[in-house]
Amino acid sequence: MTRKVTKRRPAQEQDKLIFTALRESGRPVSAYEIIDQLRDRATLAPQTVYRALDRLIASGSAHRLESLNAFVACCQTGHQGSAVFAICEDCGTVTEFAEARAVDALSSWAKKSKFAVRAMTLELRGRCGACAAQMA
Ligand SMILES: [Zn+2]
Ligand SMILES: [Zn+2]
Repeated sequence: MTRKVTKRRPAQEQDKLIFTALRESGRPVSAYEIIDQLRDRATLAPQTVYRALDRLIASGSAHRLESLNAFVACCQTGHQGSAVFAICEDCGTVTEFAEARAVDALSSWAKKSKFAVRAMTLELRGRCGACAAQMA
């Protein structure tokens, strides 16, 4: 009996590859954009990418932007949980910022209301400083 050996990339390697792609793009990207971006380096199935993204989010290396259905590399390391983003609707730039007070305020409201928070991603939409300066 011969066992078929399928060469698979270890999960760690996939995560690294996908995290690099997120970092390189510097803007929110969808899973399909990641696959496209890595086309020369690897052939990845969407499921593989989604699984890797789940791991990256769980470990605090990436965030998911619900409203854009896209993913971004975290600006910190090991940042688990809540994140605050400002999204420019003109140029698409996404800025992550640490605003612990906003997160704390919402967390304490949730606690008081006995609301169990599964995920918290705050998204501010508008125009970034660079775009505003261009308009002026
Ligand atoms: Zn973060
Ligand atoms: Zn802008």
